Amino acid sequence: MVAKTTGNDRRIVIGGVAVDPGESRTIDLPIADLYTHAKLALPVHVINARRPGPTLFITAAIHGDELNGVNIVRRLLNLSEIRKLRGALLAIPIANVFGFIHRTRYLPDRRDLNRSFPGRETGSIAARLAHLIGNEIVAKADFGIDLHTGAADRENLPQIRGDLSDPTVLELAQTFGTPVILDSRLRDGSLREFAAERGIPLLLYEAGEAMRFDEVAIRTGVRGIRRVMRKLGMLPPRKQNSRTLEPVISRSTTWVRAPCSGIVDAHCRLGERVTDGQTLATVGDPFGATRTDVKSTTAGIVIGRSRLPLAYEGDALFHIAMFKNSKIAEEAVEQFHKTHETLYDPGPTDPGRSTP
Ligand SMILES: [Zn+2]
Repeated sequence: MVAKTTGNDRRIVIGGVAVDPGESRTIDLPIADLYTHAKLALPVHVINARRPGPTLFITAAIHGDELNGVNIVRRLLNLSEIRKLRGALLAIPIANVFGFIHRTRYLPDRRDLNRSFPGRETGSIAARLAHLIGNEIVAKADFGIDLHTGAADRENLPQIRGDLSDPTVLELAQTFGTPVILDSRLRDGSLREFAAERGIPLLLYEAGEAMRFDEVAIRTGVRGIRRVMRKLGMLPPRKQNSRTLEPVISRSTTWVRAPCSGIVDAHCRLGERVTDGQTLATVGDPFGATRTDVKSTTAGIVIGRSRLPLAYEGDALFHIAMFKNSKIAEEAVEQFHKTHETLYDPGPTDPGRSTP
């Protein structure tokens, strides 16, 4: 894994602002003004370490209602270990500033920022923002991590998604340490596709649900990024090797949908191993008179689920990942839950005090 920015001239210039080795600063990249006359900017925190190494970018809240990643970035920047950084870190805690303000996934032009890459300097807001992030941040990095959660009312088991045909992505995905890794195709217009086309290995981390903080998801994210940074030589190696989880890879997933409209009683947890034909939930009427089973269409592990107990016929209820050996996948998830058992208590709210 060779960094492309390990040259003599290690000055980083973002939005016309220079950050020399040994400096760190927050840069406000101007984006389209609000129609109230107020200025709006995309804040980027840049740490350019004195010692050379690769440049890693981290983006969170590219979907404006996905909050776990925002907390992951805050905690990461507060780690004392960051003082020992090699290379450079480009951190965007809130990529979709508009969506974040409005607490929505999308932008005011109703576009999805993660389908708007590479964007255009003179396009709509989504196109401009994608262009800015792509050219000022992504294109200047050697590696990237993009932080997501499930959509509104959907929660995801901590998982890494990436194009595993790229051996660097595979290696970094395994380093991150989520129980499950999904080999997922690139989506048109996504940040991941933009990075892949430029030869920048990128991991997509998914955990928890929109508009909520999930302590396990946040800690798993911070821990995973630290592991990846150690692997890249950006942070000093650990004195003692912590017991690492052996993640399992899934190459296909499917959604189990509601067979009819009604009120949903779920019978399975996130991370549970299910068999083909197993009843995952029942959908019934408001009088308790009828019940229809929701049966799994495959064997696998529940990696995502709807948190809303109401469904229309055809609504996606459970996201099941299929594995060559579901038993091994189940063990990986169990080991993960054991590691995090003590973390299910609400954690400290002050990011400065936490040691994930
Ligand atoms: Zn997302």
